[in-house]
Amino acid sequence: MKKVAFYTLGCKLNFSETSTIARGFEEKGYQKVGFSEEPDIFIINTCSVTENADKKCKKIVKEAQKVNPNGYVAIIGCYAQLKPKEISTIPGVDAVLGAAEKFRLLELLDGFVKPAEARVLASEIKEAKSFNNAYSINDRTRTFLKVQDGCNYHCAFCTIPLARGKSRSDTIENILKSAEDIAKTDVKEVVLTGVNIGDFGIVNGKREERFIDLVRAIDQVEGIDRIRISSIEPNLLTNEVIEYVSKSERFVPHFHIPLQSGNNKILRAMRRRYLRELYEDRVNKIKQLMPNCCIGVDVIVGFPGETEADFLETYNFLNELDISYLHVFTYSERANTTAATMDNAVPLKVRQQRSKMLRILSEKKRRSFYASQLGTTHTVLFEDDIENGLMHGFTENYVRVAAKYDPLLINELKTLTLTEINDNGTVAVEEAEPMLETH
Ligand code: SF4
Repeated sequence: MKKVAFYTLGCKLNFSETSTIARGFEEKGYQKVGFSEEPDIFIINTCSVTENADKKCKKIVKEAQKVNPNGYVAIIGCYAQLKPKEISTIPGVDAVLGAAEKFRLLELLDGFVKPAEARVLASEIKEAKSFNNAYSINDRTRTFLKVQDGCNYHCAFCTIPLARGKSRSDTIENILKSAEDIAKTDVKEVVLTGVNIGDFGIVNGKREERFIDLVRAIDQVEGIDRIRISSIEPNLLTNEVIEYVSKSERFVPHFHIPLQSGNNKILRAMRRRYLRELYEDRVNKIKQLMPNCCIGVDVIVGFPGETEADFLETYNFLNELDISYLHVFTYSERANTTAATMDNAVPLKVRQQRSKMLRILSEKKRRSFYASQLGTTHTVLFEDDIENGLMHGFTENYVRVAAKYDPLLINELKTLTLTEINDNGTVAVEEAEPMLETH
């Protein structure tokens, strides 16, 4: 029995796809093992957004060669689609597969016999037209269910459309089948995942369904305790979706909404499809219906042309907005993007300073959101994550909780009251309802 190991870089989508590819290997009789357990085959699923994607890829290949110098090394994922030739010259790489080929890995590389020269199987991105469904399972307490892939937007800084192709989706019918399979497992939380999930519903190049239809349909699947929407563009987060989530028993009060800049000039230069006013309106709508909703924000600092005043506008906008945390990205030039050719690049040092300021703001926001939740009761989903005798979990509204380690709590939902913020930023809990004594 051949042994195969996987290494995944990047986003939830990559994790869901690795997991599905791995299940395909297991169905064909391969044994899935850890990276250091001398696998015969190494599959490395790469990311193009990761900083220093090339260096990371080289490092993992080197590591694989150390573990098993005769192991077969195949590289897939976004970076493989963007730079197939470059990757094929990395010593130790045996195959590079693009976006249209990665799900056919077993068929294309049948036998996994090391070739004299690396094979490159990466067609042009326009060939990546079909939708391959995927979900992660058995790896975590939650599953990432891929419902959409690719993107038809052209944000000036983004390589994802070049790496993943046009927007396309699974059908609701298929997604419900996957959701029902997931419901039969022990998984408690499903995270709806995609590149631009608000654009859900394009099947074979035609808009067939809408995201709200998917939200309504998946909410009816029995046996799934929680459903989370991974990240959604503000212009696609409709009142309908917000209102539905606010009433749903399963959809959790948590949104992650990319902002990227709080300055309208920069938003236009980025080719984002909204202005700051719309973003503010979305946040207000959510908070009006769900005062305890957690709102995460993606923001990029140091985009070409971002002056100190522009940045401060973003800073003040976020400071005043009722949001819960930030994911801060320091802008860096990516090959083949419009932004890379723009004038007025911001010096690296300034980018880093701005990033630091927003990271501090993020901590402040998170703390104040957590503080607003103290004394309230939530369901916590505990994970298999132990540190110094403590285990961690998340409330439905994404407060990270720490509790005394108890193996029986792993992957369980427990109703608890949030008591105080620990020094490390997690939140302490106590039993919501004391157990009644029995005589
Ligand atoms: S919406 Fe913009 S940033 Fe997001 S994947 Fe599409 S092009 Fe990239």
